[in-house]
Amino acid sequence: YAAKKGRHGFEVWAPDGTPASRDRLETLEQLRTALDTDQLDNHYQPKLDLRTGTVVGVEALVRWNHPDRGLLFPDVFLPLAEQAGLMRRLALGVLERALRDLQAWRAAGHDLSMAVNLSVSNLQDVALPQQVEMLLDAFDVPAGALVLEITEDVLMADAARSQQVMAGLRALGVKLSIDDYGTGYSSLSYLRALPVDELKLDRSFVRNLTSDQRAAAIVRSTLQLSLDLDMGMVVEGVEDAETLASLRAWGCQVAQGYHIARPMPAADFPTWLTGRSTPTPRRGRRLPAPR
Ligand code: C2E
Ligand code: MG
Ligand code: MG
Ligand code: MG
Repeated sequence: YAAKKGRHGFEVWAPDGTPASRDRLETLEQLRTALDTDQLDNHYQPKLDLRTGTVVGVEALVRWNHPDRGLLFPDVFLPLAEQAGLMRRLALGVLERALRDLQAWRAAGHDLSMAVNLSVSNLQDVALPQQVEMLLDAFDVPAGALVLEITEDVLMADAARSQQVMAGLRALGVKLSIDDYGTGYSSLSYLRALPVDELKLDRSFVRNLTSDQRAAAIVRSTLQLSLDLDMGMVVEGVEDAETLASLRAWGCQVAQGYHIARPMPAADFPTWLTGRSTPTPRRGRRLPAPR
C-alpha cells in the first residue's frame, strides 16, 4: 500500500519523486489563502537595555495561525513564500501590523522602537522604501523608531540592488541592523562599506558564554567593534541569568532572549510590560506586612 501510495504521489505531485513535494504544494496553496484571509500574525519579543533595565523596543516575528495545524513558525513557510514570490505581500503585512501595534503602544506612553525582519527578495525590491514611507505616514510613526533587520545573505544576492534599497530606506531615517551577525560569509569586508546602524550578534556566540572563552572573546571584541564604528549592538538568544550578567558586566547595551521574554502575541505585550515595570504586587498576591 505504501508503495502504491508513493507511486501515486510521484505521478501526481512530485516530478523529483520526493513525497514532501506534495506537502509543499498544499502548504503553498494554503499560504496564499492565509495571506488573503489574515491568518498571519505578528508575535513580539522585547529588547532590554542592560544599562537602564528598561524595555527599549520589540522585534516582530511572523506566525501563521493555521486552521488545522495550529501555530506555525517561520521556518515552515518563509522559504516557500520566498520561492513563490510572496515575500512582498508577507513583508508589507508584517510591517502594517507592526506599525499599527507600535502606534498604539507609543500612544499609551511607551517609548519603543519596532524591529522588522526583511528577506533577500525584500531587499531586491526597489519599491520597498516608498512602501515603508507610506506605512510610516499612515500610522504616524517616526522613521527613527523603525529598525529593519537584514541578514548577511541578503548582501550576497545582488549587492548593487540591495545597496540601492538600503540607501532608500536609510534616506527615510529608518535604522538598519545586521541580523545573525557573524554567521555570514564576509562580515568584516562589508561592514566597512555598508550604511548600517546596528549589529545583532548571532545567538550561536552567546550559547555557553559563561564557559566558552572563545565565544566570550568574540562577544567582547564585537562589542568593541560596534562602539568604534559608532553602531549599536544587540545580543540575541540570552537564555539564562548568568549570560545576562556577563553581558551587562562587559557593557553590552541591548539584549534579547528567552530569559527576558519569549515572543508573545500583541495583546499580551502591554500586560507583560506593565507587569515588569510596576513594582507593586499583582492583584491576588498578599502584601508583606509593614514594619
Ligand atoms: P531572527 O530574526 O534571528 O529571530 C530570532 C529567532 O530566535 C526567533 O525565532 C526567536 O523566537 C528565536 N529566539 C529568541 N530568543 C531566543 C532564545 O533565547 N533562544 C533561542 N533558542 N531562540 C530564541 P522565529 O520567530 O522562529 O524566527 C526565525 C527566523 O525567521 C528569524 O530569525 C528571522 O530570520 C525569520 N523571520 C521571522 N519573522 C520574519 C518576518 O516577518 N520576515 C522575514 N523576512 N523573516 C522573518
Ligand atoms: Mg531578527
Ligand atoms: Mg537573529
Ligand atoms: Mg535568525
